[in-house]
Amino acid sequence: ADDRVARLLEGLNPQQRAAVLHAGAPLLIVAGAGSGKTAVLTRRIAYLLAARDVTPGQILAITFTNKAAAEMRERVIDLVGPRAAYMWVSTFHSTCVRILRAQSGLLESMNSNFSIYDSDDSKRLFGMVIRDLDLDPKKFSPRGVSVAVSNFKNELISPDEALASAPEDDPTSTTIARIYAEYQRRLRAANAFDFDDLIGETVALLHRHPQVAEYYRRRFRHVLVDEYQDTNHAQYVLIRELVGEQTTASGLEPSELCVVGDADQSIYAFRGATIRNIEEFERDFPSAETVLLEQNYRSTQTILSAANAVIARNSNRREKRLWTDSGDGELIVGYVADSDRDESTFIAKEIEELTDYSIGGSSSHKYSDVAVFYRTNTGSRAIEEVFVRHGIPYKVVGGTKFYERKEVRDVVAYLRVVANPDDSVSLRRILNTPRRGIGDRAEACVAVHSENTGRSFYESLMDAADGKVALLNTRAVKQIGGFVELIEGLRSDFLTHFGEAGTEDADVAFLDATEESADIGELVDAIVERTGYRAELEASNDPQDGARLDNINELVAVAREFSADAAQVDADADDPEIEVDREGEPEPGSLAAFLERVSLVADADQVPDEGEGVVTMMTLHTAKGLEFPVVFVTGWEDGHFPHMRALGDPAELSEERRLAYVGITRAKQRLYLTRSVTRASWGQPVSNPESRFLQEIPQHLIDWRRTEPRRSARGFGGSSGGVFGRDGAFSGSGGSSMGRGRSSYSSDPARGRNKQVQLDIGDRHNHPKYGMGKVVAKEGSGATERVTIDYGGSAGRVTLLTAGGIPGDK
Ligand code: ATP
Ligand code: MG
Repeated sequence: ADDRVARLLEGLNPQQRAAVLHAGAPLLIVAGAGSGKTAVLTRRIAYLLAARDVTPGQILAITFTNKAAAEMRERVIDLVGPRAAYMWVSTFHSTCVRILRAQSGLLESMNSNFSIYDSDDSKRLFGMVIRDLDLDPKKFSPRGVSVAVSNFKNELISPDEALASAPEDDPTSTTIARIYAEYQRRLRAANAFDFDDLIGETVALLHRHPQVAEYYRRRFRHVLVDEYQDTNHAQYVLIRELVGEQTTASGLEPSELCVVGDADQSIYAFRGATIRNIEEFERDFPSAETVLLEQNYRSTQTILSAANAVIARNSNRREKRLWTDSGDGELIVGYVADSDRDESTFIAKEIEELTDYSIGGSSSHKYSDVAVFYRTNTGSRAIEEVFVRHGIPYKVVGGTKFYERKEVRDVVAYLRVVANPDDSVSLRRILNTPRRGIGDRAEACVAVHSENTGRSFYESLMDAADGKVALLNTRAVKQIGGFVELIEGLRSDFLTHFGEAGTEDADVAFLDATEESADIGELVDAIVERTGYRAELEASNDPQDGARLDNINELVAVAREFSADAAQVDADADDPEIEVDREGEPEPGSLAAFLERVSLVADADQVPDEGEGVVTMMTLHTAKGLEFPVVFVTGWEDGHFPHMRALGDPAELSEERRLAYVGITRAKQRLYLTRSVTRASWGQPVSNPESRFLQEIPQHLIDWRRTEPRRSARGFGGSSGGVFGRDGAFSGSGGSSMGRGRSSYSSDPARGRNKQVQLDIGDRHNHPKYGMGKVVAKEGSGATERVTIDYGGSAGRVTLLTAGGIPGDK
């Protein structure tokens, strides 16, 4: 046994070892990218199990993605054996779903078959609320309101509190609080939670029922959280609740808490994440201890030096010095393309060379070693086109959005209604899909009936079928009757414990996975058959409908596979060595389990495994936590990356810089940074100057394969082309005088009226956009003469072409 414990500590550096061995007080592990934070968390769990008499059931580990959770669990099982399967390792959302389901008896007006609404469902519901409250949809858009309400929920602010805190002279805030209250009421009536609720309602449950909180504290003696820098306030409070206070009435010691994170990798502020949680950990948990990891095991020194140089420009950060003993490695490869197509072709050709065993011998790479990152989802298109032509196998993570396709959502809505007939958003989605002659007017009559009687929308449909709803014509009554029969038929054929709709039969939605005839695949198939959905698509001549049919068939296949997997889990459950904890988990293979899987699947969960043998393509955000031997980070242009939105906003610019840091630090051996002089954006080629982040990387680390495009950039506003300096900065000539190019964001009509000034090294210059700066360099002559001015702050050094004159004051 001692041997085994010794093996668990093998290869760790002293700080890592200390983090694994630490016992007692809350522990914060702060460290830069690739320093083994996730690895240490995993080893720590294994050590707890192997050396500290902790049982798997006492461990709760929280990761950022489902895929990361699965990997962590497997790694621990590798280290200490199959009993580790009993641990809870999952995302915040999955953890909360389990708690809510297990405790559903305590949830007012909810039962365990609750639906989970994603942002699209919740926007629909906001739309209904805004309409029913007779508000101006231009002033209160579902999208805008949903962001505001999500912010409230992330801060654990209730509708009442939102209303109370709305300033008296601000009717908009008051209205938003009213929308929030009504939205919340309807969510509960629909037996549904939105994503933010999963966290907030779990916190509320633990607050309302101290004995439940105590139960989980007794149960989870160890709480471990990865990627702590991206937690929001609600998640922080949840952790506090689960860990417990220093002294509790019952004398229970707080659970051991271990969180790991890197403030420099916080990239989800737009979802309410706050680095406050990591920065104030020691204040939140006064007895806390902190471990710093500085040795990086992932990347070469060259890659680290580039990452360090970029992130060093952010202010107010804890200085970290990442180092590695793995040597300098290859230079970073830089490439300036003349179009995004050219950029993609360069990438494709490089990948062909890197994967060509006939040239590279042992240093050759596999396709699965390579990842390509871009700033926004649209970034994949140009690359995909070229990869297809070159025959490079790839997978776009999060690009396909299978579960967001209309036809897939329609069928999932049927599944949700079968499981949870109270789910009025799903119900109203499918009421007339496919078309069955139930019009808006009929729907409105039923909605009014539901409002007036307090009966759910589904019960109101039953009433309508019985002729009890006012103002419905006989045709509508008949159609609605048919619809109710359809749903009841699906429920009675596919639910083993079929209770009357609306009754609180907790088992109502559980399919019996042991009966061969009752698998989810069959249910999906029955839905597309009985509704006529499939027949309608088959009869259509629209090629789009062909694609829709494929997606429907794909969904049937996914469901079949799900049932087959569940049968396998069933077989495993007979293995006495594997003890599996099912608390709060729906029956394997059940409809509830399938819906939960569908609801909680995230982009990052689709990251391909090495065995798939494909190049991975994804956004920079999705790349967090991952590593690849070869990484291409594309689109290094000001206005693209950093994003246009961030240019005037120091906080956003810092977040973009962290994103650059995340991107660079994913690379183990080879890093490519590419930018393009023109890039298609909303169907228009726009020209952006070199990213300021690229300029922040010491140039001796980069091997520029090409600094100038082959041909002059064309297609932006009919300009006659531009000039490209050695540093890669593009200077638009012609009508524009600004060296940072005629980019889409800087097309300021006032600029033409600006005074034009002549500048020399040492001169001070007040730019209308960047503010006061000082000329630090001047090169070239005539048409290509340009000056570099340091504006400090977020603008940094800017290279301007002098030919057309420079706007501003000297
Ligand atoms: P990120 O900040 O990107 O999430 P991280 O700090 O979580 O990174 P890990 O992913 O845990 O870092 O580790 C980076 C790489 O270094 C992994 O391949 C891991 O296996 C390896 N590694 C970590 N610690 C050691 C060690 N002591 N010896 C050898 N390799 C290590
Ligand atoms: Mg990690």
